[in-house]
Amino acid sequence: MGDRKDKTSQRMRPYAKKSLGQNFLVDRSYVSRIVSALGLSEGDRVIEIGPGRGALTSKLLETGARVTAVEIDEDLSVLLESEYGSEERFRLVTGDILATDLGDIIGDGTARVAANLPYYVSTPILRKLFANRDLFSELVVMLQKEVAERITAPPGDSARGFLTVLIERGFDTERLFDVPSGAFRPVPKVESAVVRLRTKRVDDGRENDTGFEELASAAFRQKRKTLKNNLDAAPASLREKIDRKGGSEAVLEKAGIAPSKRAEALTEEDWTLLLAVIFG
Ligand code: SAM
Repeated sequence: MGDRKDKTSQRMRPYAKKSLGQNFLVDRSYVSRIVSALGLSEGDRVIEIGPGRGALTSKLLETGARVTAVEIDEDLSVLLESEYGSEERFRLVTGDILATDLGDIIGDGTARVAANLPYYVSTPILRKLFANRDLFSELVVMLQKEVAERITAPPGDSARGFLTVLIERGFDTERLFDVPSGAFRPVPKVESAVVRLRTKRVDDGRENDTGFEELASAAFRQKRKTLKNNLDAAPASLREKIDRKGGSEAVLEKAGIAPSKRAEALTEEDWTLLLAVIFG
């Protein structure tokens, strides 16, 4: 009895750290579904964010892909290194994904991303992936269900927000499937969902990402307010540009958008037009 308990507790070590969003996926059927969604072939390159105890890592390696995993927790890194370190197609970077130079770890060409993201930091990670989207062809990521709903919400849906329009600008999104909390240990308080993000290859004026972020952030600042009211209250640098083009009402009208609309109602095309009117 005592023996079995010892073995179980050894398997669970190092213990999950809540502060690092550690909920490990233990249901193998979801591991398989996530990895199959990536459709990997031998030699493909994958960046895994937060490999944890390697639930996805081993399945990713089975496909013949080359896996670079970025894990912040040094205790888990020791475990991963001992488990997969001898595998020639595996590379481990111990560090914070937010402080990691993605171009450096990918080198030439593009990679795919596989991740069961740490939820406490999923928004900054998604923003970083957006900013570096040219390095990636496709991402399959697990998110908190509400975040998955938010980033895949269509125009007119009140769940839309700043993150939705940012992701929509960079990627074609597809919600793949939900994952119940019972599939993880420890069991999290929230439900999860897996989404696929495919990088848009059409050049859509991505050189003005900064302007787009500035505009979207101002437009969603107070979600219940109209676009006109939110743009009237935009930070000084954006306000100046809007005023140079005749003011909030004028720029919205020039883009063919009713000033009384809310930001959540705008389509991707509306955002592109509005951006061009203000920054063009
Ligand atoms: N992939 C594993 C799985 O599915 O079982 C673990 C997923 S767990 C939800 C999130 C993982 O991300 C943990 O291993 C955690 O230590 C790691 N992590 C948290 N913050 C991180 C960061 N800023 N950079 C890299 N990894 C991070």
